[in-house]
Amino acid sequence: MVEILDALNQLKVLGVSVIFEQEVLDTADTDNDLMISIIEAIAQAENESRSDNIKWGIKQRAAQGEKAMSKGIEIIDVGGVNCYLLEADDGFVLIDTGFSAKRMFLDEVLKKALNKPVEVPKKLKLVILTHGDSDHAGNCKFLSENYDVKIAMHFEDSKMVENGDMSWNRKLKPDKISFTFRLVTLAFGKNSIFDTFKPDIYLQDGQNLAEFGLSAKVIHLPGHSKGSIGVLTSEGDLFCGDLIYNFAGFSYIDNLEDFNESINKLKKLDINILYPGHGKPFSINYFNKKFVQKI
Ligand SMILES: [Zn+2]
Repeated sequence: MVEILDALNQLKVLGVSVIFEQEVLDTADTDNDLMISIIEAIAQAENESRSDNIKWGIKQRAAQGEKAMSKGIEIIDVGGVNCYLLEADDGFVLIDTGFSAKRMFLDEVLKKALNKPVEVPKKLKLVILTHGDSDHAGNCKFLSENYDVKIAMHFEDSKMVENGDMSWNRKLKPDKISFTFRLVTLAFGKNSIFDTFKPDIYLQDGQNLAEFGLSAKVIHLPGHSKGSIGVLTSEGDLFCGDLIYNFAGFSYIDNLEDFNESINKLKKLDINILYPGHGKPFSINYFNKKFVQKI
């Protein structure tokens, strides 16, 4: 594993992205904790190398008299997956739920946020899934049973979570998958338990989230999966799920045509900061630089 990390780091220094189409990896004897430390190590290396871009983006924003991050966004890292707890009128909305293996941690953070000392306890009003993958949907059943909260997602990913089948409504072979992505998901796929559930609410493109106390709307962003969505707040914060990773060498594009359309769709929207499912938030300036060739 150390050799793989070293090799990836060396390639990264050289500016080479590694895409393996046909590799066969046996990660059956790799446990979750080890994989999580690998993800964290990769993420740290990646974030360090990109921190200049991120800082630059945030500095730009500060210069315009705005805050780097809107008030009321808490990032909860649930085993390498970003879950976002957003302050809404009268409570909170949670975007994505993380791996089931890290459930106790999520539970603890949520309890703390909802029950602040000397404040009236707040309610978790809604859970929004950016897509149906098990690393994002792993704690939905637990949350709906323990927090009395409804789960909302796009219909086109719904059978993924109902059947526990992450290949549902996806191509037999994704258009683009990176080596590190395959390595990590192979290990988790074998070791992570997924509690299936039926979503309560289906979200559609353009849907306003005001009824859940959130000044935001849903953006359908297929590419990683057919039912991938983003949440765009009126302050220009976009929670983009796994459409775009900010995470070393990670890439999983099920449908490249959909992906490119989604990227072009984002270019027309009023966005300041993007909050990905994996890796640190980044500015619209960084997004524009990264995807400039696709205009
Ligand atoms: Zn993910």
